[in-house]
Amino acid sequence: MGRNLIPLRESWETTRSAARCPGRHGRAFTLIELLVVIAIMALLMGILLPVLGRVRKQAQKVACLSNLRQMGVALQAYLPDAEYRLPPSSCHTRDPNDHWLRILTRYTREQLLFRCPSDTGKQFVNWDRPLEEQKEARYSSFAVNALLDPIHFRYGGRSNRYNNVNNIRRPMACIWLSEAPDTDSFRLADHIHPELWEGSPEYAKRFIAWDRHRGTAHYLFADGHVEGLKFEQTYDWPGTCNWYPETAPKWPESP
Ligand SMILES: [Zn+2]
Ligand SMILES: [Zn+2]
Repeated sequence: MGRNLIPLRESWETTRSAARCPGRHGRAFTLIELLVVIAIMALLMGILLPVLGRVRKQAQKVACLSNLRQMGVALQAYLPDAEYRLPPSSCHTRDPNDHWLRILTRYTREQLLFRCPSDTGKQFVNWDRPLEEQKEARYSSFAVNALLDPIHFRYGGRSNRYNNVNNIRRPMACIWLSEAPDTDSFRLADHIHPELWEGSPEYAKRFIAWDRHRGTAHYLFADGHVEGLKFEQTYDWPGTCNWYPETAPKWPESP
């Protein structure tokens, strides 16, 4: 065994001295070699950039999911204080301090939680400044399901019983918060009206940022859990409908 090792070691030494061949010292790159190096670098960039883009998108997705989960936690902390009634949207209550967004802030302390990192919108409301000065800014990347507001005409106006999470047929199948698109009509809107979608997923998609996370969006359900779903998984006729509190995940009898 020992005798076998000697020739191996000798051949390694020979290779090392060949690599130190003085003739190769100071030799410049040829143009071809330079082009090859540039081509390899371009190829590596071509491979790496899409990967980096995907990694960034994945990180944004994780941050958005985490934000929504935090809101779910804040909601669970808030509900016992409010006799299990969900916080209202701007649809029926004027004072922004009474809207869900502000109410949950008191239970999280984090303003950025109301923004999805994949939301391309730039201007968001700064609550330390007067709202009148920020007419162009948006409240949030998210919007609540107005069917769960304290007041809704579909459920007898003043006292919507489905505003109380305990009255929702299946809270784990009923969406309370979804991702809202960055459009002009959504600047100051913090809620959506699924009863106006007329059973058409195509029409409904105007009011949801359904494609914010590679064909999916994130939804916070009334029980506080979060899911990333294709919009059609939540609103498909005939099939599933996760938006009506009295029937979710089924469609209600009459529109
Ligand atoms: Zn409204
Ligand atoms: Zn998001």
